[in-house]
Amino acid sequence: MSYAPSISFTTPIKTNSKPYIGRFAPSPTGKLHFGSLVAAVASYLDAKAHQGQWLLRMEDLDPPREEAGAADSILQSLEAHYLYWDQPVLYQSQRLDAYQEALEELRQYTYPCHCIRQRIIGLNGSYDGHCFKYPPPTSDPSAIRLIIDKVSDKDIVERFDDIFLGLQTLPLTDYGDFIIRRKDGLFAYQLAVAVDDAYQNITHVIRGHDLLDSTSRQRYILSLLDMDVPEYGHTPLALGEDGHKLSKQTKATPINNNHAINNLIAALNFLGYSPPEEELSDKDGDSLMEWAIQRWQRQQVSTHSSIAPKLSGA
Ligand code: GLU
Ligand code: ZN
Repeated sequence: MSYAPSISFTTPIKTNSKPYIGRFAPSPTGKLHFGSLVAAVASYLDAKAHQGQWLLRMEDLDPPREEAGAADSILQSLEAHYLYWDQPVLYQSQRLDAYQEALEELRQYTYPCHCIRQRIIGLNGSYDGHCFKYPPPTSDPSAIRLIIDKVSDKDIVERFDDIFLGLQTLPLTDYGDFIIRRKDGLFAYQLAVAVDDAYQNITHVIRGHDLLDSTSRQRYILSLLDMDVPEYGHTPLALGEDGHKLSKQTKATPINNNHAINNLIAALNFLGYSPPEEELSDKDGDSLMEWAIQRWQRQQVSTHSSIAPKLSGA
């Protein structure tokens, strides 16, 4: 992706032409389920088909939402599914100093917000700048919001070519000034992901469609910090029978490591790939993945979310 230079753009967005580095970044809020396997497989195949590295980042940033043992269980499941990462796992819980540093750097673009939940809910997702207009007394703990109009060419942040979905426009005003540090003192997902994607030199972010609407916020943070902005691709979501996304929080059924090959075939089918019978018969996961790496074509990846298949023994 390349962008025409913009004279008025004070903090120009930077893209990179570095060697491919992809990543999978699960939150240890539960065990790996079929939806996360699909995202992991897609990011792995896209990286390996481009002779890239595939990194693993454990997003253990929110202890109250985490489940004991989930991080290790996710790692075991990935390995059992022939998904091998290329560097030691990065744990976000070890990166708090870096997030604090980024927060300091962004300080000039932030303000404290004391709004109560009830008030925010009434705003339908887009913060109205209340605490900017009416600065609250400074003593109680507060969230920290990032002002969204601090780059002059917002178009470059809000418009991007998704690897699978094509041109996307995601206006920052849909969210308004957004939280980068929570009232409980924890760093927000948007900040940590942007800082770590830059830190790990990630060139390609392949992840589930549910994270599409975070992309402009992350591109914005990266551009304010003058860091490289990766390319993004969002994969179809696996839905439960009720039509809602499978998620760890709603206790989606974990995948069974003893059925790794069948799970992988189901994930490949879900993405729009049908491994031939002869590939399936010898039941060798590594050669199945090799087959998929050789065949991987971005334009063949399905763009529609659909109901997850029933997996045996899950
Ligand atoms: N940790 C996030 C999640 O599990 C994903 C982050 C990302 O891929 O950007 O939903
Ligand atoms: Zn507020």
